[in-house]
Amino acid sequence: MIIAIDGPAASGKGTLGKKLAAHYGLRHLDTGLIYRAVALAMLEGGHPLTDVVRAEHAAKSLDIDSFSNPELKSARVGEVASIVSAIPQVRAALLKFQQDFAASPPGAVLDGRDIGTVICPDADVKIFVVATPEVRATRRYLEFKAQGLPVMQADILADILKRDARDTSRAAAPLKAAPDAHVLDTTALDVDGAMHAAIALVERARAGRNP
Ligand code: C5P
Repeated sequence: MIIAIDGPAASGKGTLGKKLAAHYGLRHLDTGLIYRAVALAMLEGGHPLTDVVRAEHAAKSLDIDSFSNPELKSARVGEVASIVSAIPQVRAALLKFQQDFAASPPGAVLDGRDIGTVICPDADVKIFVVATPEVRATRRYLEFKAQGLPVMQADILADILKRDARDTSRAAAPLKAAPDAHVLDTTALDVDGAMHAAIALVERARAGRNP
């Protein structure tokens, strides 16, 4: 089984992806980390973010072992990820890695922006997770605060709105719900509530495929 989860920044798709994978015994890929790793390579190399050749090279030399680097989760890297991820050559270089991951047994949950539309258009279940920008900013703020990071909630909201605008308006694989995706609004849901709703969607899709 392949489960595709897409949605904007801090919508809860990462947490949901991890928990759904554990629940169904599937592998999990947070595809945002891939673009964040490309972003970090560009920042560490001191390359201009407009350098398409360098960005494509960084995407092609991706090291999956580096995905645990906590630096990848920083707001700065997230911002740069949303810039380099708009480069079509970067997306093309990362396509096969994601599709191979999804196709390997026993199946996988992938979360990102274009999983249901581009990476796994034939996924068994597609979930598009949304929540208001204010709720998403509060969640991110609490996460950063718990890590002892000095952040302002207003700055996080501004960052989220900027990234949403960039991710939805880009020409290459923009953030949008696939026509056959189920929209899950987590604004008023806690983690358990979101998980409950997501499992219901997966079960309904499975029942539909095997009536
Ligand atoms: O999900 P996360 O916030 O870690 O993603 C960081 C950035 O990577 C996003 O703002 C988006 O621009 C990009 N991204 C993407 N396609 C994906 C996953 C992430 O373009 N499948």
